[in-house]
Amino acid sequence: MAQPPLQPVRGTRDLIGEEFRRHQAVIETARRISALYGFEEWATPVFEDTRVFARGLGDTSDVVMKEMYTFTDRGGDSITLRPEMTAGVCRALVSSGLVHSGLPRKVFYAGPMFRYERPQKGRYRQFHQIGVEVLGAAEPLADAEVIACGWHILEALGVAEGTVLELNTLGDAASRAAYRAALVAYFGAHRDRLSPDSRARLERNPLRILDSKDEGDRRLIADAPTIHDYLTPEAAAFHAAVKRYLDRFGVPWRENPRIVRGLDYYNHTAFEFVTDRLGAQGTVMAGGRYDGLVEEMGGPPTPSVGWAAGVERLALLLPQTPPAPRLVAVVPVSEAQEEAAIELLQRLRRAGIAAEMAYRGTLKRRLERANRTRARAALILGEDEIARGVVQLRDLDAGTQESVPLAEVIGRLA
Ligand code: ATP
Ligand code: MG
Repeated sequence: MAQPPLQPVRGTRDLIGEEFRRHQAVIETARRISALYGFEEWATPVFEDTRVFARGLGDTSDVVMKEMYTFTDRGGDSITLRPEMTAGVCRALVSSGLVHSGLPRKVFYAGPMFRYERPQKGRYRQFHQIGVEVLGAAEPLADAEVIACGWHILEALGVAEGTVLELNTLGDAASRAAYRAALVAYFGAHRDRLSPDSRARLERNPLRILDSKDEGDRRLIADAPTIHDYLTPEAAAFHAAVKRYLDRFGVPWRENPRIVRGLDYYNHTAFEFVTDRLGAQGTVMAGGRYDGLVEEMGGPPTPSVGWAAGVERLALLLPQTPPAPRLVAVVPVSEAQEEAAIELLQRLRRAGIAAEMAYRGTLKRRLERANRTRARAALILGEDEIARGVVQLRDLDAGTQESVPLAEVIGRLA
């Protein structure tokens, strides 16, 4: 019996043609802009020791709780496909020893991430992120610069319109502890009206309730206390400085006291760039300050700040699909000119001109392929042309054709 054809695993996608080009445009743009800010690209492994992502009892985030792809490998070690990159970058900073010199380090990354969640538009099990991290900088200027770089990338991609920066602070440890107590008191008094998920978060991680998408929760959240009443003077000054610098960087922002980051090592700045164009999957870039993470990886205290952005969501928003590169087709009139054509083909490529030659076929077939692949020009080489040291250059857009000396072809096409 015939097997049904194999499909990509649920929540994964093939990137082919236009989709690949949109995806790649997002990454290339982010790479180029982040370099303007002095970020250096790092690549860390796609899988890590599970302890990189699940670090003891402090870990109560949704990702760690239920979204990780974790397995035991053949050697008996617990391995996890990375659900995000920040933890891996911090682990790498510590394992490489770089944490002891040359700080701050500014890191850019791009790559696939893995989370076991319910697939829907803009939400996949293998997805891709770009991101930046400033490792080893406690200054609010670092927070503002990281955000400015993100905004610059969104502008360069043409997706800034309809996107707003939602900014919040989680304060320092003292602010956060006081706020946490206030939230436990407030939500505790309305315990029976909370969704089961939020009820479970009440003691573990009450801040995370603010992030709930449940309707009933949202009504309670609207009247919940905000962090601003619990900020220490130092934390308030830090937040004020971030906002002043953002103004100088030319980044528009909006205060949103509901923006939180799930994990305990986050403090001070928390932010999201949110678009009105992707429905419930509207967060395209999210980040914050995580002064405790490098220490959790076994390094010295290393205050850091960064963001990550979903490549698929940005690719969906791109106003235009980048065009496929257009080739020059080299076309021998008959088999007898094929070898001379190969030499011409390779001269073009060595000169940086994208070119191809069909592997077989008559003149007519080869010209058909040239048109079908939207080649910009065809170089037709017959017996007569070879004898005269020329080639027929056909402009496939204009439909014009002329005889060009072989020595001039590259100059004409460059
Ligand atoms: P969400 O609330 O949408 O689940 P998150 O808080 O889990 O987002 P982060 O961990 O902050 O997301 O990741 C940063 C960005 O990565 C998100 O803003 C989003 O653009 C993208 N992202 C996260 N999860 C997915 C996914 N499963 N598929 C596609 N993109 C994703
Ligand atoms: Mg999520």
